[in-house]
Amino acid sequence: MSESQACIGLGANLGDVRAVLAAAYAQVRQLPGTRYHRCSPWFTSAPIDSSGPDYLNAVACFDTTLSPQALLEALQGIERCHARERPYRNAPRTLDLDLLLYGDQQIATSTLTVPHPRMHERAFVLLPLAALLPTVVIPGLGPVSTLLSSVAGQSVWRAG
Ligand code: AMP
Repeated sequence: MSESQACIGLGANLGDVRAVLAAAYAQVRQLPGTRYHRCSPWFTSAPIDSSGPDYLNAVACFDTTLSPQALLEALQGIERCHARERPYRNAPRTLDLDLLLYGDQQIATSTLTVPHPRMHERAFVLLPLAALLPTVVIPGLGPVSTLLSSVAGQSVWRAG
């Protein structure tokens, strides 16, 4: 079975964010058909297109034999475990898991867009991604190092 490198974004800004994110990442590591897990340092960011307290964010990468859709559904299952609710678009959230990259694939279905359609606009994604994979190229958009310069004004800092 073929294996691809997947990158996911993890974020939360409600409740005990460190505990929720640690538990969610432990669940990601246990997903079937995944191995060689790596996680970026944690970053704090002010809400963008959202509200409430600051977010805690990281990016994790792993190799997987799960299909992109199966991986998305597994991530949504983990979100549901942590009582993720979607009362309205961009509401504050106890846990947000996004599929950012899946190998060098570009995917556009009714349920899944990869690369994640807003990742290149968000320093809280690009900074941890660059910390983990400094030379990664985002399909259709370019090297992460180039994209970072266009989000330099955003308020994101390494979590203490
Ligand atoms: P959100 O509420 O921001 O987590 O968005 C979740 C919705 O975005 C779900 O309906 C997903 O099917 C859809 N979606 C599309 N592409 C992605 C992606 N790359 N990662 C996560 N969710 C995605």
